[in-house]
Amino acid sequence: MAFVNRSPWIHQLDQSRAALTLSSDTQTDVAIVGAGIAGVATAFFTLHETNKKITLIEGGRLAHGATGHNAGQVTTYFERPLHDIAEEFGPELTKEGQEAVEHSFELLEHMYSIANLSIPFSRFRGHAGIVDFDRVISHLKDNEMREKLVLSVEEFLIAENAPFLKNIPEQYVRFYTVVPQQKIFDLLETSDPRFIACLSSQKGCINSALFCQEIILYLQKTFPTRFSFYEHTHINKVVLKQDHALLDAVHHEIHTTRVVLCTNGFETLTIINESGLDINTRFHHTIKGVIGFMSGYLKAHEKPPIAISYIVEGDSQFEGEYYYLTRRQFEQEGNGNYNLISVGGPEVVLEDTAFYTKDQDYPEEAQESIDTFIRTTCENGEKKPIEYQFKWHGLMGYTTNGIRLIGTEPQNPVLLYNLGCNGIGILPSIYGGKRISEILAGKKLSPSIFDPKNPQ
Ligand SMILES: Cc1cc2nc3c(=O)[nH]c(=O)nc-3n(C[C@H](O)[C@H](O)[C@H](O)COP(=O)(O)OP(=O)(O)OC[C@H]3O[C@@H](n4cnc5c(N)ncnc54)[C@H](O)[C@@H]3O)c2cc1C
Repeated sequence: MAFVNRSPWIHQLDQSRAALTLSSDTQTDVAIVGAGIAGVATAFFTLHETNKKITLIEGGRLAHGATGHNAGQVTTYFERPLHDIAEEFGPELTKEGQEAVEHSFELLEHMYSIANLSIPFSRFRGHAGIVDFDRVISHLKDNEMREKLVLSVEEFLIAENAPFLKNIPEQYVRFYTVVPQQKIFDLLETSDPRFIACLSSQKGCINSALFCQEIILYLQKTFPTRFSFYEHTHINKVVLKQDHALLDAVHHEIHTTRVVLCTNGFETLTIINESGLDINTRFHHTIKGVIGFMSGYLKAHEKPPIAISYIVEGDSQFEGEYYYLTRRQFEQEGNGNYNLISVGGPEVVLEDTAFYTKDQDYPEEAQESIDTFIRTTCENGEKKPIEYQFKWHGLMGYTTNGIRLIGTEPQNPVLLYNLGCNGIGILPSIYGGKRISEILAGKKLSPSIFDPKNPQ
């Protein structure tokens, strides 16, 4: 039987919400292409920061891309060690970049409260469990870098029975605390003896697709004359002129002064620059992608929300670098309160993201890998079969340096980007929305690690 990609986030959307499709040529100040969390946040902040007319165009349905197929953990780290980013960009830009993502928690809360939302959104201290010396050292280096950059140092616990305790260089002593292993087990909610260190930081969880839906409803109500939203309207081509752009929406055209791509990649459209050098999208984004596989099961609501990463590699060909578990309050068909426990980790590299489809197979080995992990590490040796109500996968497309691309295209400022999914994108997308709105409002911004660069 063909696999049905069933994500709990899309399951919670209002399936009866009417979708409007573009039915004539149109003219706007800012066209935003792509209605995942990046496009929605960009629309939100631009409507608030400027008095411009905004048109948001989505090729499929709202939030049915990565935003509807993620793990929904709200986290502030990059998928590269901070000390590595500092080597590429220098201390000042790295500090500003990290702070920008950390402050985006407040931007998310701001959106939530301005739109008067009541959907579940939790903030808490989350944890990452570590099993090996190399990772311990890498995270200690990051803590050292955090101190250097005057960022808050993260709490780092190492078990007193960790075999490498004596090998940790003296310079890192002030960045960790030695504790009984049981303390680490308690934080990671496991008794899996492999875990000998734990890093804790601010995290949260939200259904980012439901969040998008609610924000759109708010924008439509609040800005009826300045905001238009079209779904099932694919943009084939973006033609850039000197001071405006033309979007080819198959049957119709959109004339716009600026265009913001929030498309999570470049593979779905062609960009033609008629005012300047060609834009080499390969320079900005890798063609390769990663499919992340996830499963979720429901339990009676008994524990508070949590997000935990378990940095341990499994032994199947589908293993990623870690498993990630999120537990949250979940409402299922109005039928009481549940805990939804969702777990991801297995992944597969796709040589060309253009070949990804939402309905492609979910390999049995990926499911087995999640199942074994849950039984051994989270459910502490549970033997009974686990019934998964949800099984889904999503595509992570990568920028070349693993950092989201936010800003103006150097070859033609009519075009802007807030894209590059990467495995962590909820807060960076929101920050991107805010930063783009400031550019569109004419503010002069200082350089950042997120700036699109010219090809060398
Ligand atoms: C398995 C998985 C787990 C993840 N877990 C987390 C996590 O726990 N925490 C976290 O922060 N991030 C996570 N992420 C990443 C996060 O989901 C993404 O970074 C974020 O959702 C990206 O949002 P977006 O709006 O940029 O992209 P998308 O949500 O993919 O939206 C892009 C939209 O653009 C539309 N589009 C594309 N091309 C066109 C076109 N030519 N015309 C019109 N529309 C177009 C698409 O249809 C799509 O709706 C995960 C991702 C995956 C896949």
